[in-house]
Amino acid sequence: MKYYSTNKKAPLASLEEAVVKGLACDKGLYMPEYIDTLDEDVIANLKNMSFHEIACTVAQSFFGEDIESEILDKIVKETLSFETPVVQVKENIYSLELFHGPTLAFKDVGARFMARLLGYFIKKEGLKQVNVLVATSGDTGSAVANGFLGVPGIHVYVLYPKGKVSPIQECQFTTLGQNITALEIDGTFDDCQALVKSAFMDDELNKHMKLTSANSINVARFLPQSFFYFNAYAQLDKIGKADELVISVPSGNFGNITAGLFAYWMGLPVKRFVAANNRNDVFLEYLRTGVYTPRPSVPTIANAMDVGAPSNFARIMDLFSVYDNPHKEICNLISGYRFTDEEIAETMKQTYNETKYILDPHGACGYQALLDNKLTANETGVFLETAHPAKFKGTVDSILNADIKIPAKLQAFMKGEKQSVELTKAFGSFKNYLLEK
Ligand SMILES: *Cc1c(COP(=O)(O)O)cnc(C)c1O
Repeated sequence: MKYYSTNKKAPLASLEEAVVKGLACDKGLYMPEYIDTLDEDVIANLKNMSFHEIACTVAQSFFGEDIESEILDKIVKETLSFETPVVQVKENIYSLELFHGPTLAFKDVGARFMARLLGYFIKKEGLKQVNVLVATSGDTGSAVANGFLGVPGIHVYVLYPKGKVSPIQECQFTTLGQNITALEIDGTFDDCQALVKSAFMDDELNKHMKLTSANSINVARFLPQSFFYFNAYAQLDKIGKADELVISVPSGNFGNITAGLFAYWMGLPVKRFVAANNRNDVFLEYLRTGVYTPRPSVPTIANAMDVGAPSNFARIMDLFSVYDNPHKEICNLISGYRFTDEEIAETMKQTYNETKYILDPHGACGYQALLDNKLTANETGVFLETAHPAKFKGTVDSILNADIKIPAKLQAFMKGEKQSVELTKAFGSFKNYLLEK
């Protein structure tokens, strides 16, 4: 399988090139040349398969030409050391709990898969050290740092906005040591993302060291996220609830929902998607006006979605470019909602009082979007609960007036000692820092 750039001005790449490079040389995002559809009987049989079997089937479809199936199975198995259960919250609304991985956020799936795939290519080709640059508004950094921890031949630099990630998130990538370095940037998440993008475009830096990304820019990180959409369908099909599925995705960089759209393209029966935003709502604005206007992000209590220029928008446009009127088709398949911090808090409070289910601020957007979307009696709504509420304990406790439990996995991180390097948001200082490595 070859990968093309969404900007169409870069040569086709192999899977290995796309994974090692991250971004194409024309600044576009890599897309697989084609998307195979799964046979209907395979879809009908998903309910009888384990998560591992489902994921292997999907992985085979994307990566099967390029990796021996035994190796791919092993990568999938090591990635999915945890389940993603579907839990009923009320009536016809279910939470797809994606937070049972090592860092308690859905990004564990993509990060662990990518680390293993990249590690495999490095070993196979005897490549010199690959340096992963990752900008984070909180959850990406922890998932990537933990996913890549100790993988030979890879060093990870996590760039995060000083003072804008929760203390629990921060300790998940600043305390690891080994091949993980945390860079504390005096700026916003968008500044961090801009630094990473500039680094990839800098000739001198790229001559000096081999750089790649682990943001959802990278195909190896975002594509595996389609696994859990199939798994959600399988679990709901088992209880006869999958006929009219509406899937709501709390969205920031739009990698997760794009993986859902890929699942749909592969034949997963989804009636429509719902993109739930916080106040960073450029996508909703696009749905309403047909015009995409990226702008600086604003901070919210759902901070992993504080993205003003969602990088995967380019992939969505590319997917729909087969239609005469992409905007109309996108609006037919995806509805959009946006919530202020006050609305998010209100949803969390009400849901807790009514159902005892503890939403995190991101999942709360997904859940409320389903409520606002007014499902019919035959429809089943699933929202992706993208992080464990304890990752945002301060926020959640004060909203619910509770003292929620911190899972042991998370407590272990908090015992470590913070190590980070402080840098300004000027590209020059970041570049000089890397040139000295
Ligand atoms: C990253 C993240 C999101 C947004 O996912 P995208 O793929 O960037 O749209 C939502 N919720 C949580 C908890 C996250 O960490």
